[in-house]
Amino acid sequence: MSKNSGKEYLDNINSNLVKAAGYLGLEKGIVEIITGYERKLVVKFPVRMDDGGVRVFEGFRVQDSTARGPAKGGIRYHFNVSEEEVRALSKDMTYKGALMDIPLGGGKGGIICDPKGDVNNPNGTKIPMSEGELERLTRAYTRAIADIIGPLKDVPAPDMNTTPQIMDWLTDEYSKVIAEQTGQPYKRIDAVVTGKPVGKGGSLGRDRATARGMYFTLREAAKDLNLNLEGATVVVQGFGNAGMNFAKFVYDEFKSKVITVSDSKGAIYNPDGLNPYAVEEWKEKKSPKKSVLDFPGSKNITDQELLELQCDVFAPSALEGVLTKETAPKLKTKIVVEGANGATTNEADEIMYNKGIFRLPGILANGGGVTVSCFEWMQNLEGKQWTKEEVDKKLEKHMVDAYKATKEAADKHKISMGAAVYVVAVDRVAKALKAKHKL
Ligand code: NAD
Repeated sequence: MSKNSGKEYLDNINSNLVKAAGYLGLEKGIVEIITGYERKLVVKFPVRMDDGGVRVFEGFRVQDSTARGPAKGGIRYHFNVSEEEVRALSKDMTYKGALMDIPLGGGKGGIICDPKGDVNNPNGTKIPMSEGELERLTRAYTRAIADIIGPLKDVPAPDMNTTPQIMDWLTDEYSKVIAEQTGQPYKRIDAVVTGKPVGKGGSLGRDRATARGMYFTLREAAKDLNLNLEGATVVVQGFGNAGMNFAKFVYDEFKSKVITVSDSKGAIYNPDGLNPYAVEEWKEKKSPKKSVLDFPGSKNITDQELLELQCDVFAPSALEGVLTKETAPKLKTKIVVEGANGATTNEADEIMYNKGIFRLPGILANGGGVTVSCFEWMQNLEGKQWTKEEVDKKLEKHMVDAYKATKEAADKHKISMGAAVYVVAVDRVAKALKAKHKL
């Protein structure tokens, strides 16, 4: 995302919120707070770099809303991070959490930095940050935002370029700050972040939660549309955490035919269906290009061809902004289930609705990720570890309930599922706001 698109992203979400507020008849002051933010912190902090110099970094933490519970959302390390982008991302978290009906609000953080060495650093070279630099950066940022985060205030998580290792440093540094502030012996406070490795406070089932949630919402939609998913043709864009695991779930559990998968290097097509496990093995172990391309028995196709394939289910699970007013008219699918965030523009949503394509927007379909993150936080607070089966059962309930509430709002107002998600979520946030502030 470019610096400017942070503002566009924010404007886009706000226009959805304003529309939803119209359906709900919300008063002006409520609309003002939901399109604004609750708290934002901008911090600057010095970090010792490997070359011996000190560099000052700028970071943000935005709490869009704590009306329904502590703020929740990732921390992004990227050279294009901006205040608007962080605000937009934190707003996404508020409404996704509300739609999933988890007891958390929305937050997000970010540091303007270049961990992968994608752009020139001040001395003109493109070098990734070392592990030591990343650790010192993370610890300094944690100290800078320590006063406003905490298990019952604001719970960060990984996002772009922030790993479980980074979450581990954050947990450790936060726990040190609390020990210093209280004068108590050091005690690790796991519930301050989610996205930790299993065994270090992480939840079972988090690794495949996003795809599992996509699978549950697709199952519910297919029931409503009377679409038999056995043998149904499925196209998946993106073969990473969301896309690949989704392909495996539909292949294993519905016996659907996954006719196309793609990655950043291109797409493959087999009208008789691909085995996603074999494609994974090809990509990871055998392909010289480390790509799905050239998978034996399949044909390489372009991204353009992928978008125009006749299929029953299309799952954009890589990039934002793939379904636009230019691409949406070319779709030949019955259902779109979005693993990716922001896959569809508002204009494309309207085009798809008018074409009779049933869209499961990312805020609903990929909500399994944040839901199981919430489960991780709950397990940390309880000091317990839920079994994989417990996690799956609870996730299924949240996904099915969110789907049903959205479908009901879509039918009631005669609007797309893409618009209905905001009606449901804004209603819940507005009610919580009124209760919290005694309005
Ligand atoms: P990932 O990095 O594991 O996988 C991304 C995949 O997309 C990779 O296979 C990559 O090669 C592919 N890709 C990149 N550019 C592409 C292109 N131009 N065309 C086709 N494929 C391309 O990421 P992920 O975790 O699976 O996330 C994918 C999307 O899902 C993102 O939008 C992310 O925000 C969203 N999402 C993920 C989660 C989660 O828990 N993983 C939760 C919510 C939303």
